[in-house]
Amino acid sequence: MTAVLDLAGLDALIAELRFTGHVVVGPVLRDDAITLAEVESAADLPAGWGVETAPGRYRVRRRADDAVFGHSAGPLSWKNFLHPPRRALVSSDGEEFRTIAEPRPRYAFLGVRPCDLAAIGKLCQVLGDRAPFVVAAECTEPGGVCFCASMGCGPAAGPGYDIALTEQVDADGHRFVAVAGSPDGRFLLDWLSPRPAEPEEVAAARSEVDTAARRMGRAMPEVDLRDLLAANRESAHWEDVAERCFTCGNCTMVCPTCFCVTVENTTDLTSGVAERGERWASCFEIGFSHLHGGPVRTSPAARYRQWMSHKLGTWHDQFGTSGCVGCGRCVVWCPAGIDITAEAAALAGGAP
Ligand code: SF4
Ligand code: SF4
Repeated sequence: MTAVLDLAGLDALIAELRFTGHVVVGPVLRDDAITLAEVESAADLPAGWGVETAPGRYRVRRRADDAVFGHSAGPLSWKNFLHPPRRALVSSDGEEFRTIAEPRPRYAFLGVRPCDLAAIGKLCQVLGDRAPFVVAAECTEPGGVCFCASMGCGPAAGPGYDIALTEQVDADGHRFVAVAGSPDGRFLLDWLSPRPAEPEEVAAARSEVDTAARRMGRAMPEVDLRDLLAANRESAHWEDVAERCFTCGNCTMVCPTCFCVTVENTTDLTSGVAERGERWASCFEIGFSHLHGGPVRTSPAARYRQWMSHKLGTWHDQFGTSGCVGCGRCVVWCPAGIDITAEAAALAGGAP
C-alpha cells in the first residue's frame, strides 16, 4: 500500500525508530552545510534549506518552501557512520594485547538520497556488512553536479530501502508519499496508521521523480566506461588533469563508496599503552602505492588515473558494478573543480 504521512507522521516515525533502540541519523543544517547527525525529531531536519552546487562550490540557500529533504548530497555521506574515518583495533600495555571491538550503534538512516542508497549497498557489499534501517527520500530536485540518472542510481529509490518517501509541498500541504520496501518497513508504516495515498498523489510523486531524471546537472557519457578507461591507460589526458589536480585526496574522502584504509600504531608514553588503529586512506597519498623500494605511482597523473580507473572501471572486475553512483560530491568538494564527468567525456571524445 502506498500511504501518506504528514510532518507529524514523520515525527512519529522518528520517535518510533528511537523508541525501538535506533540512533536516527539524518540531514541537519550545521556550519553552513547540510550535513548528517543524530536527529531526535522532525524539528531537527533542515526545513526550508536547499543547496547550490557547482564544481568546487557549495552553498546553502533558503528555499521558497519548508521542504526538509529539498537538498542534494552534502559533505558527509553515510560512509562516515558505516565505515568511520578512524577506528581503534587493538591495544597493548606490554603485558597483553586487547582487541578493541566497539559495537556499532543500531542506526536508522533517514532521508537517504537514491544515489546514497546505492552507495550504501555497494559499501556494504565491499565491507561484508548489513545495511541499517533506511528511510530513503526520493529525489525531485537534483543538484547542479548530480548525475545519478546516468549511473542508473536515481532519482527513484532502488532496492535496499525499508521505507521510501517522496516529499511534496504544495497548496494542499506538506506530505510524504510513503511506500514500504521490506517487512520491517511495512510493519513500521502499518503501526503508524497513515492514510492511504490517493491515486493522484501517487501519480504526482512519480511524475516529479521522473522529471528530476531529466533535470540532472551532469551526465556520464553513454559509453562503456570500463572499456573506456582500459583503452586510455596511456592517454596524454592524464597529464592535462594532473596540471589541475592538487592530489589533496578530497574526492576520495567525500566519495560515499571509497573504502581504503591504512593501519597506524601510536604509543602513549605516559600510560605505556600502544594502540593500533585504522584510518581512511586515499590513493592520492604518495605512500599509498608503496611497494618494495618505494611508491609505484609517483606522479599526480598516475594517481588520478588510478582513482578514476578504479572507480569507473576495475570496480566492475572486483565487485561486478561501478564504484560511482553519480552523487557529485567529488565535483563539488574538489578545490580545483575537477569534474569526473567532464574528464570521462574528454576521454570518450578522443582526448589525445
Ligand atoms: S566518484 Fe564522485 S560522483 Fe561518483 S560516487 Fe564518488 S563522489 Fe560520488
Ligand atoms: S581531483 Fe580534486 S579533490 Fe581529487 S585529489 Fe585532485 S584536486 Fe583533490
